[in-house]
Amino acid sequence: MSAPRIPLLVAQLPDTDALIPYLRQIDSNRWYTNFGPLVLQLEQRFAASFAPASLAPTAITASNGTAGLELALCALELMQGARVLLPALTFVATATSVIRAGYRPLIGDVDADTWLLTPETARAYAARHRVDAVMPVATFGNPQDVEAWDKFVEDTGIPVIIDAAGAFGNQRVGRRCHVVFSLHATKALAAGEGGMVVSYDQQLTSLVRRLSNFGIDLERGSQVFVAGENGKLSEYHAAVAHAALDQWPVVVERRRAVQARYQHILQQYCPELRMQRRAENGIYPILVGLLPPGYRARELQPALLARGIETRQWYCPTLDRHPAFASFAVGPLPVAHELAERLIGLPFFVDIDEEQMQRVAQALAELTQVTSKQGAYA
Ligand SMILES: *Cc1c(COP(=O)(O)O)cnc(C)c1O
Repeated sequence: MSAPRIPLLVAQLPDTDALIPYLRQIDSNRWYTNFGPLVLQLEQRFAASFAPASLAPTAITASNGTAGLELALCALELMQGARVLLPALTFVATATSVIRAGYRPLIGDVDADTWLLTPETARAYAARHRVDAVMPVATFGNPQDVEAWDKFVEDTGIPVIIDAAGAFGNQRVGRRCHVVFSLHATKALAAGEGGMVVSYDQQLTSLVRRLSNFGIDLERGSQVFVAGENGKLSEYHAAVAHAALDQWPVVVERRRAVQARYQHILQQYCPELRMQRRAENGIYPILVGLLPPGYRARELQPALLARGIETRQWYCPTLDRHPAFASFAVGPLPVAHELAERLIGLPFFVDIDEEQMQRVAQALAELTQVTSKQGAYA
């Protein structure tokens, strides 16, 4: 008899009842896209989550996180083929957005503890290579240090866009570095699809807005001076995002409770499973463990699946090992390569229960034989 399946991820979006008040607003507004009232209100609410109104940055919606990255990159107005440093350990969209914006990725390594591409690493690369922009990633929701990146921008003049796709709730916005979030169904704040570019640079945000609307310049005779795309968020997606923001405080509390309990159980059963060094009280959309040296996630996955446990090798292979990006590595990437082999994404969702968490931890302990309990392959 096989154990019931524990899914890797269960997306949880606002239900119909939570959406109805916003859908009724759409009915009465009869405004469905092109920067309607729900989108404009959503941008205000989103911006206000970073600072009180007078100090808040500007938030600009996009149709998804990847479009947000592309629009922000284009709004930097770098020359064709400009070199954008990014980490090897990330989702493919970090690299595709650079290429779609007409630039060239430079794939760099990450820190062994935080799994982030740090300002120190970027400085080291910039000393040896031409770097025209940096796109560090808030890896697995772990926030980037915006003060350090602001300092980097000040010192080097190199612009920085943080890919914080999955880091809403954790990632702050710097005075000089720009931040992009995703509202994809699998992220902590989910609207199905959606993205947000957040920055204190008004020139950049207004160009992002214009580029998201084909490049049409409404202040200059609706002419197009720089070609854009259709990267707008619809009123319907904004409705879901509003409902998600209404529920955010409850979701935050539940995610924190689950995370703390899960981490405790994993630590108990499988103390050699290492976790990312990251902010204690963060809100993380996924849970990833680092297997002890010598273990490969790929080799454990079938045995975990046989116990009904779904896992995923997030961000594996690393960017440089995708054919489309193979020529873009700048030097060796030992940390990212090692992490990609040993990182394992574990079942993690808001209503995962005690028994499920224990089954995951126990299976990992048995399969890595690092527990003092009589482990071995059952
Ligand atoms: C999810 C994610 C994206 C893509 O966001 P979409 O909204 O799905 O386009 C980009 N980068 C990272 C690091 C992500 O996790």
